[in-house]
This record gives sequence, C-alpha cells and structure tokens, in this order.
Amino acid sequence: MKKRILVIEDEPGLIITVTDRLEKEGYAVHSARDGHAGLSLGTESSFDLILLDVMLPGKNGFDVCRDLRQRRVQCPIIMLTARGQVVDKVVGLKLGADDYVTKPFEMIELLARIEAQLRRTTASAVASSNEGHHFGEIMVDFRSAEVTRAGKQVDLSAQEFRLLRYFIEHRGATLSRNTLLDEVWGYDAMPTTRTVDVHVAWLRQKLEQNPRRPAYIVTVHGLGYKFLG
Ligand code: CA
Repeated sequence: MKKRILVIEDEPGLIITVTDRLEKEGYAVHSARDGHAGLSLGTESSFDLILLDVMLPGKNGFDVCRDLRQRRVQCPIIMLTARGQVVDKVVGLKLGADDYVTKPFEMIELLARIEAQLRRTTASAVASSNEGHHFGEIMVDFRSAEVTRAGKQVDLSAQEFRLLRYFIEHRGATLSRNTLLDEVWGYDAMPTTRTVDVHVAWLRQKLEQNPRRPAYIVTVHGLGYKFLG
C-alpha cells in the first residue's frame, strides 16, 4: 500500500516539483490549491501525511491546520513557511503541526522530514494500546488488522484476529471459555467451548515460540485462558 500525501500549496511550480519527486519515491500524492479545498480534501479522505503551506488563498495554513485537528485529522502535518517567518514555527506547532520546513527547501530535506514523521507515526501507532500492541517479536496493528512476527506477516483469520485483539485488550485477566464465546463469537453463532480451544491452539501455533509451552496465551486450569503479552 502506497502512503498517501496531501499537498496543500498554491504555487503551481512547487506542486509539480514536489508531486513528481514524491511519486518517484513511491508515495501517492494529491494536491489542493487553496485553504478551503485543502481542508475539505484533508477531512473527507484519509492521508498518511499533509504538507501545508502557510500563505494560501482563501484560508491560511494556520487556520487549515487548526480546523483539520478540530475535525480529528490526526496524521502528521508539515507546514511550509517562507524564510524569515520565525513566528510561524511556534504558531504552527501550537495549532497542531508536527514539523515545519522553510522555503526554499531542498527536496532531500523535505523527504527526510516526511520519512521521519511517517516512521514516528508507525512506531507510535503500534505502541499505543488503542491502535495496536507489541509483545515479544509480535506486532499487532488494530487499524490495518495486520500481525507481524519478527517483521514477517502472520496470516490470521478474521476470527483469530478478533480473539487475539480481545486477549490483548484484557491482558492479565483470566477469561473463561464462555466469556470468550460470548464476547468474541457473539450469540448468533453456534460454537461450543471446543471452538475456543481450537482457535487458541491456532493462535499459539502462529504466535508462540513453543506452542506446546505457551508464554503468551496461557491455560488457567479449570478456568480458561490468560494473555500475558
Ligand atoms: Ca503560498
């Protein structure tokens, strides 16, 4: 999946230069030429990062930045400021921008800033419990429903993923088979407690170093399971 970048900038020459280079680097690039268009596009569609010029027709970059954040757009925003606008940095960061680059800039510098922001968001997404979880060699990303083990993709069925997520969200708690059935499978299905055991065994096969002596999804005899990751 290509990372999506939105460029909100009114100078046509700069849009072309930046778009060309970012596409060569493998990004999918969209652009808007004024503040209102940028705000609409940035709100309606989801991007991995936004490049936002300060001096824009219609609505300036500071207002766009503030409004994007108010509308719960959480991707990194890098502001593009003119040389000498020292105050811009402080104002921009206060309004929710993550970084700024002063014009004129070298593309190599802009690329480095973009990569730094994207790396930071990937790491924090996985570290934050709402969006993912990390244990041992395993990384679980709730948003993309992807699991990796030592960097390699692990294929989980949708049901296995739901079970794993439930375990992670209730780590440390002893969970009975009946609780897991109710919470993970729901009432409309007709599984038995044996179904839970089978899925736990599959998860162990895929995630544990030694599935016969599990370190993460442990059996609590007579009660159920406990997740210790
Ligand atoms: Ca401008």
